[in-house]
Amino acid sequence: MRFNLACRQCGKQLAFQPDRVRCTCGGSLYVAYDLERVRCTFTRSSLARRPASMWRYSELLPVADRRHIVSLGEGWTPLVRLVRAEQALPVGKLWVKREEQNPTGSFKARGFSVALSVAVEYGVRKAAVNSNGNAASAMAAYAGFAGVEAYAFLPKDCPGLIVHECKSYGAHTVLVDGLIHDAGRLIRDGAAEQGWYRFGTMQEHGRAEGKKTMGLELAEQLGWRLPDTIIYPTGGGSGIVGMWDAVQQLKQLGLIEGDPPRLISVQEEGCRPLVDALRNGGVFRPAGDAVSSPPTGMRVPNPPDGQLITDILRQSGGTAVAVTAEEIRRGAEALGRYGISASPEGAATWAGLLRLIEQGTIGPREEVVLFNTAHALKYLPWKEENTVTVRDYREWRSLMQR
Ligand SMILES: *Cc1c(COP(=O)(O)O)cnc(C)c1O
Ligand SMILES: [Zn+2]
Repeated sequence: MRFNLACRQCGKQLAFQPDRVRCTCGGSLYVAYDLERVRCTFTRSSLARRPASMWRYSELLPVADRRHIVSLGEGWTPLVRLVRAEQALPVGKLWVKREEQNPTGSFKARGFSVALSVAVEYGVRKAAVNSNGNAASAMAAYAGFAGVEAYAFLPKDCPGLIVHECKSYGAHTVLVDGLIHDAGRLIRDGAAEQGWYRFGTMQEHGRAEGKKTMGLELAEQLGWRLPDTIIYPTGGGSGIVGMWDAVQQLKQLGLIEGDPPRLISVQEEGCRPLVDALRNGGVFRPAGDAVSSPPTGMRVPNPPDGQLITDILRQSGGTAVAVTAEEIRRGAEALGRYGISASPEGAATWAGLLRLIEQGTIGPREEVVLFNTAHALKYLPWKEENTVTVRDYREWRSLMQR
């Protein structure tokens, strides 16, 4: 096999399994590739001739048979330099990675393209996801394309248009009276009985591996180098994990050199477990239910791999920063005037940039990339009628039986 699983803690290797994410030692497992073999074909000149898709990096994605690839045209998104913003701000170079141009209007498409490909390879017929919205709509679209039956469980304050979108792709779509982890509990409680394959954050390997392509792409688009700093709106953190793995693998393949980019997570004031962990000497504690922020992709109080994300931010020399709803609103306006339709999460990276400049964390010669992870249009007000709301698995099941 071209890839295995390896433990981030004890280093043990085992055969690839799509949904085995923990080692017996408690460490988290990642996909380890045979890089000696990858090196033969994964070269700058060979890559330059490949299609404008994230599947150009297929040697570093965990799909054994290319016929299983589930693709709707994701990845290879534009990296746009904001020259006018560079003139207005004390920053060296500034780019926006336009992830809103992915299918389903968010970068979640990358994760689900890989996750569904892996699922198809393993014969999955029925799958469920808990999500603040964009993961569910991406899952619904890719599952629809692949012919997998999809179940989406969303917090009841999920933006109405995204609920509508999930339904339009044919997913069984249900609201949960609670937060994203309550929706995750519902799926865990029902998985065995319903035969659900679980697509939740860090429950299987496809999503983090798919997001890894953001890091690979960034390096290639910048001419095989990486910026000084990457500012990324963080929730469950699979994007941070994926991009960090991208940096390590590119280094091991000899495709990039030098220090890794600083990875900086932006969160919202009302839900900021990573910011607290960094203030707390790097010890991660889940935020529990005590959150007061709107339902964006950043609102993940209990990320399953919170400590790993914290460790990666520190190892990269980065940090985490919290911004207010008002700063996010102004961030969307600012990016809008530069021609970028920014979701609240994308706008938060702009707000984070201003904070970090003010704090002196980002200096005047620095090269910075912001990730606009979704399209503003997904968050426009829309009242989606007739969606069932439940508290837990038992209630959902009794409703289904009626
Ligand atoms: C899911 C999501 C995030 C958070 O990404 P993670 O990699 O899970 O931390 C950020 N922005 C948007 C738009 C999202 O949908
Ligand atoms: Zn281990």
